[in-house]
Amino acid sequence: MDTQSSFPRRPTRQILVGDVPVGGFAPVSVQSMTVTRTSDVESTLQQIYDLAMAGADIVRCTCNDIAAAEGLAEIVPRSPVPIVADVHNQYRMALAALEAGVHCLRLNPGNIKKPEHIKIVAAEARDRNVPIRIGVNGGSLHPDLYSKYGGMVTPEAMVESALQEIGYFSEVGFDLIKISVKASNVPLMLDAYRQLAEITDHPLHLGVTEAGPPPSGTIKSTAGIATLLAEGIGDTIRYSLTADPVIEARAGRQLLEAMGLRERKNVDLISCPSCGRAEIDVVAVAEEAMEAFADEKIPLQVAVMGCVVNGPGEARDADLGIAAGRGRGHLFVKGKNVEVVKEDEMVEALVSWAKVIQVEGAEAALKRVDTKLAEREALLDREQLLKEQGEDVNEIEQKLGAIRNQRA
Ligand code: SF4
Repeated sequence: MDTQSSFPRRPTRQILVGDVPVGGFAPVSVQSMTVTRTSDVESTLQQIYDLAMAGADIVRCTCNDIAAAEGLAEIVPRSPVPIVADVHNQYRMALAALEAGVHCLRLNPGNIKKPEHIKIVAAEARDRNVPIRIGVNGGSLHPDLYSKYGGMVTPEAMVESALQEIGYFSEVGFDLIKISVKASNVPLMLDAYRQLAEITDHPLHLGVTEAGPPPSGTIKSTAGIATLLAEGIGDTIRYSLTADPVIEARAGRQLLEAMGLRERKNVDLISCPSCGRAEIDVVAVAEEAMEAFADEKIPLQVAVMGCVVNGPGEARDADLGIAAGRGRGHLFVKGKNVEVVKEDEMVEALVSWAKVIQVEGAEAALKRVDTKLAEREALLDREQLLKEQGEDVNEIEQKLGAIRNQRA
């Protein structure tokens, strides 16, 4: 990703959220958050795919109970983007989320307050090499700090809250940190982030919390986030809108593109992370597809999915995609199977279908083929794979056992 911009970035340390670098001159990333129940695995995954397609690089899901943590154990291996678990109040849910394999935690110092609990979570995250976002929120500031600053939420109080948490983390030797100091008041969050940027080089996650519905929420968020980005502050961003999260992800992406902090996309290639079900080397095929599309000016969303069991469903909103099954590739357009091709012809077929869709549109392209035939073939491979692989290729049962041990 090219970052040609007239807004030079502030140097920060770099952490990795899954495979997405945050800070250290990495492209500013876009985050969003699911609004489904995390325990509803299929709905949550569908929303994660929608968000990825709308431009989210990282997605956060709440982990508010054991059922949510169990959901995460199933979601993480099938998510196309890294997953952050949002944890409030119960430190054990942070441990359960780590058991589920999440790529990052978000802790609010205002509601996991006991230092011993914070340190237990940080030590576990350290051992697993999983970063934590210290998510200070003006609306839920630690009560002691609220009193200390005269019953007011001030930028100083928010910064102190973040520093306290960093202190607890450093006691257990943990420093894979990013920080946010969000408030719903734009001048307040601006000051808090500016102060923080003066005293720490940890990467910063920007946002105006509870910004409200669009358009006012979008304007408020843009005022806060864009101002800081223009000053070089900020390594990852989230719009918090009272709206479909797809709108949030899209807004984040559009802002970065408008500021020249992310390049405008040609083909928007998404690929599943690959898991126990994968029938192909997803990374290799995705890279091959990236290369094949590199010189094509085709602004479509194209999905490369490791298996036909879940791939076409998970990426049903992509304009076009391919899912592998038993030595062959199942091409789908807007979730509808259209053709079966040999495994080594998958990328070639993707490119030629993309060209047809670009010229004729998806509906017209669909009318060219017998989708029923392609669907029948996909079903055959799906059933056969389920029979061969069983239901638990990602060893979810084992993770669920560890998660359930975290019941308070
Ligand atoms: S291999 Fe299949 S189930 Fe696994 S992440 Fe990819 S599409 Fe989803």
